[in-house]
Amino acid sequence: MKNNNFMPVDLHCHSTVSDGVLAPEAVAERAYHNGVRLWSLTDHDEVGGQAPARQSAKALGMDYITGIEISVTWQERTLHMVGLAFDPDNQTLNEGLAAIRADRDRRSFKIAEKFDALGIPNTYEGALALAGNPELISRSHFARYLVQAGYCQSLQEVFDRYLSDDGPANVRTAWASLPEAVFWVKEAGGVAVIAHPGRYKYSRSQFVELWRTFKALGGDGVEVVTGSHTLDQYYQYADVCRQYGFFASAGSDFHGPKEGRLDLGHLPPLPSGLTPIWHHLGYSQY
Ligand code: AMP
Ligand code: MN
Ligand code: MN
Ligand code: MN
Repeated sequence: MKNNNFMPVDLHCHSTVSDGVLAPEAVAERAYHNGVRLWSLTDHDEVGGQAPARQSAKALGMDYITGIEISVTWQERTLHMVGLAFDPDNQTLNEGLAAIRADRDRRSFKIAEKFDALGIPNTYEGALALAGNPELISRSHFARYLVQAGYCQSLQEVFDRYLSDDGPANVRTAWASLPEAVFWVKEAGGVAVIAHPGRYKYSRSQFVELWRTFKALGGDGVEVVTGSHTLDQYYQYADVCRQYGFFASAGSDFHGPKEGRLDLGHLPPLPSGLTPIWHHLGYSQY
């Protein structure tokens, strides 16, 4: 018997194809085991996990929606945009993602140089060894290496001391623009969602501009329930959805069993008065 009130939906999580610690097949199994029946794997800037994710979901009897989390730079800060229900073979999208991955690669060397200068050597090799996909080295891999090598006690400590956006080892990178990211996902037939808005350090007026701009570009949704939000933020971004007419999305942002706030599928229901983006995508039964 179901003894919780979680939604059977999780539309944001990661595998070893980006900076998660489980392979797509293992993420699928954990999602299913945790009660997810409508799932999307949204690796950063890479669709290589989509085929195994879809196959695993099918074998388990779980509905699957194609997913991606695209790195975007907007108003000089990094913003994450989730794309859902697109064609993973679309050429425009794949060319855009390949360009982001090339930028990631160059950034990794520069991050390692900064760690060298801070007296922490071999971080590129350390991060690469922890990456499931050599084309996709993330700050998460550097952070895991620093914990493993004993420089810090936790991932949070690494981000607080070194790798936050303003941290001494971070390297600011010009990722995709917001219009580009929306265009790629739309060209591929998908919908565009602003991921975990509660994490961005934009001013109030910048947020207003973000919602207006995203709406004008054809943006579809905003993540309301995510492992990155507090309960107050669920209500705050529910208001944004109602005010601007965005669909609401939900995902744990699961990266690994020992990381993050929410496990796969441990998502409380959306606040009332919202239209879930999965209803818009034809999954009204959830
Ligand atoms: P990147 O896309 O390589 O710049 O890395 C960003 C990733 O770092 C995010 O997707 C998260 O997985 C991770 N991250 C960012 N901030 C934190 C934090 N404070 N604690 C743990 N992981 C974080
Ligand atoms: Mn991540
Ligand atoms: Mn993100
Ligand atoms: Mn994510």
